[in-house]
Amino acid sequence: MYRSVWLATLLLGTAAIAAPSKDPYAALRPSVAKIVGGSFDEAPLAQLAELTENIGGRVTGSKAYGQAVTWAMAQLTAAGAQHVHVEKFTLAHGWQRGPARGKVLSPRVRALHVESFGWAPSTPAGGVRGPVLLMHGFDDVPAQVKGAIVVVERPSGGGGPGPKRVLAMRKALTALHAGGARAVLVSMPASVTSNVLTTGSPFVDGQLAPLPAGVIGLEDERSIARAIDAGPVTVELEITNTVTGPIEVANVIGELPGKTRPNEWVLVGAHLDSWDFATGAQDNGAGVVQVLAAARLLAAAGPLERTVRFALWGGEEQWMIGSRAYVSAHEGELGGCIAALNTDNGAGHVVGWKVAGRKDVEAALSPIARRLLAPLGGAKLDLELTADTDHFAFLAAGVPALDLLVEDGNYEAAHHKQADTLDKLDSHALSSGISVVAVTVLALASTVEPFARRLDRAGVEQLLKPDGLDEMMRQNGWWK
Ligand SMILES: [Zn+2]
Repeated sequence: MYRSVWLATLLLGTAAIAAPSKDPYAALRPSVAKIVGGSFDEAPLAQLAELTENIGGRVTGSKAYGQAVTWAMAQLTAAGAQHVHVEKFTLAHGWQRGPARGKVLSPRVRALHVESFGWAPSTPAGGVRGPVLLMHGFDDVPAQVKGAIVVVERPSGGGGPGPKRVLAMRKALTALHAGGARAVLVSMPASVTSNVLTTGSPFVDGQLAPLPAGVIGLEDERSIARAIDAGPVTVELEITNTVTGPIEVANVIGELPGKTRPNEWVLVGAHLDSWDFATGAQDNGAGVVQVLAAARLLAAAGPLERTVRFALWGGEEQWMIGSRAYVSAHEGELGGCIAALNTDNGAGHVVGWKVAGRKDVEAALSPIARRLLAPLGGAKLDLELTADTDHFAFLAAGVPALDLLVEDGNYEAAHHKQADTLDKLDSHALSSGISVVAVTVLALASTVEPFARRLDRAGVEQLLKPDGLDEMMRQNGWWK
């Protein structure tokens, strides 16, 4: 302090050098220090162990998902959140995975690595047998597919579920069903080797695939492709899933009411559901315990000016059903939502926030990033716009949406695979992510200044168009 006063005195009169700017967050510094200190705690990892090892994989609508809801309500209440409750929404169908098996019958008998897609139906009991018909990518569905088991070589260019690719896959499955194909097996992308499988569902909102469909290991698919060059290949496939009619599923919601502006709210959420190959540690147990820790740390910081809402969503893996249901149900008060924050990118090295294409959000967030998040290593703001997790539900409704930005080359190795288990978690990265999330919420909820505005429908259409996401909104029936 003495030193800076002395320096300022020395510099008086030298107009070229600006005086040090006043810290706009000075009043928040004691809370920031407590939050950062409290982020580096063993509680989140212990909670993550409970969620993943005791409850396990949590497919939306499953018994384990129901247990996770009960657990999350207790945790959120213990963290100090108020009005903890569930908000229910409906999926068109319930679905549970059963065993799947496949084998090449000719020219040589050999077992295959196969699993069903989520929300795909079973084969008839005893399985289906048929000649393999090979497709390269999803675009050119052959005219004659009747009776075939179609094996699709996934087009090159990564394994990510880009919306355009998913729409193409969905169209192809519909055409193959109409043409009389018996089943479809889609290969892994070239980056997923050793017959490792990634699960997922190309259909949205709990709608069923029109025919038995799943994934096949890369090496198995390549082997079939080579054999087909020499002559016909026959395959047998059996899938035994359980499919039900409509089911009700719950989001878990809690809040810390605002002191002076209770109708203005900052939401921070993560999805509670997971896929079932493993225990959903990175996707998205990590995000869940980050939200729970943020609730504990912000409750301890005392009432903030604005309300903070905490949300643990269901149905994210079936295309953000829970968060979209929340957005629809709360349409009347979305104007009061200052920002919706989401954490669902694994517990890798957190570096900042994705601001989802919005330069105005980047500008509004940048003082917080510069002054509060930089010391935490979380100052990077990225304009990348993705439609792959729950922030998108808010983004598509025009609300400023932030998705935690994580740099981790290892995420894909675990994402929706058998490898998504607790042992992959980096405890330090998990904690540093908590500090970035909680400090960002603290800053947004402590101010009375406006943040970025809510976009109208025309503004959202303009935002989504460059990535073709406006088309996805229409094809999914989310926009009329
Ligand atoms: Zn996820």
